[in-house]
Amino acid sequence: MSTVSRSTEKFGQKPNSNSRAMKPIPKEIKATDGNISIVWSDGQASTYSGRQLRLACRCAACVDEWTHQVMIQPERIPAVVKPEKIDVVGNYALHFTWSDGHNTGIYSYDYLRSL
Ligand SMILES: [Zn+2]
Repeated sequence: MSTVSRSTEKFGQKPNSNSRAMKPIPKEIKATDGNISIVWSDGQASTYSGRQLRLACRCAACVDEWTHQVMIQPERIPAVVKPEKIDVVGNYALHFTWSDGHNTGIYSYDYLRSL
């Protein structure tokens, strides 16, 4: 699935002399059961299943640093994975603690938006 992002489109009312557009950040993060929904500052809403995000983890334990090979074995991940805890990391990412005990994944906003 790929969406074409039209970065030239502007939502803001205030004139922005800076050519670098503000990146969208989560305005609202909700976790219900196994699902995570995010409403972004630009109005877009995303919903992910916990398992989907768990499988998309790109931490050093899940993706080989050198070969970029994904080492997650989907059959070893429970069918329902819930976020136990969601932390905001700096101003650019979310850190999930998953119900299967995995807690080293950091998901940048860019990455979340690309999923
Ligand atoms: Zn991971």
